[in-house]
Amino acid sequence: MDEFKKIRDLMVETQLITRGIKDRRVLDAMRRVPRHLFVDESIQYKAYDDMALPIGEGQTISQPYMVAIMTELLELKGNEKILEIGTGSGYQAVILAELSKEVYTIERVAVLVKRAEERFNFLGYGNIHVKVGDGTLGWPEESPFDRVIITAGTPKIPDPLIEQLSEGGIIIAPVGDRFSQQLIKVKKSKGRLSEEYHTPCIFVPLIGEYGWKGED
Ligand code: SAH
Repeated sequence: MDEFKKIRDLMVETQLITRGIKDRRVLDAMRRVPRHLFVDESIQYKAYDDMALPIGEGQTISQPYMVAIMTELLELKGNEKILEIGTGSGYQAVILAELSKEVYTIERVAVLVKRAEERFNFLGYGNIHVKVGDGTLGWPEESPFDRVIITAGTPKIPDPLIEQLSEGGIIIAPVGDRFSQQLIKVKKSKGRLSEEYHTPCIFVPLIGEYGWKGED
């Protein structure tokens, strides 16, 4: 049992259960995964606070509640192949890896990929595949995906990701302008798309061919 176990359990009680997260598997995964190992040692004491935290390169690890609700909305049963856009710290990818079969995750900032890969290896996740690139293009060689999760704010869901979604698949994404978005859940059934609108949120921008134009 690690020294953070107690505050991790408290995070699940006070931030997730009280706000209505019900999926037992999601709650258990978030009780298990050592979130403090996904931030710099100097801010580990804040790792279980109710907020996003900086991970360098101007990027953030999402607030625990945001990870929980996005994961719950994916309706994971355990046998899915998932595509994540925006690896960041790797925390969301590890939560997904706990709850599905294979996770493919793309990050545009190479140094973040390197750090995330070190964490996946250290923690022993053999079912996470990570690469540097523009995630708005998806990962065609590995498609189709049963689930797609975009963890950066986007003006719309990139067309390639809709194309790479399998029949019966689900996409979760924060869609909106650069400064505020709303979580959207898209389902593909019989080749048609249906949309549901969920909580307002604030993510760093998705920068790429089908996202926002680059700042650098
Ligand atoms: N899921 C992450 C949080 C990600 S923050 C976690 O659990 O820590 C959003 C990330 O998306 C940032 O790291 C940013 O660099 C990345 N990003 C932005 N645009 C991208 C793109 N087109 N393709 C891949 N990654 C992108």
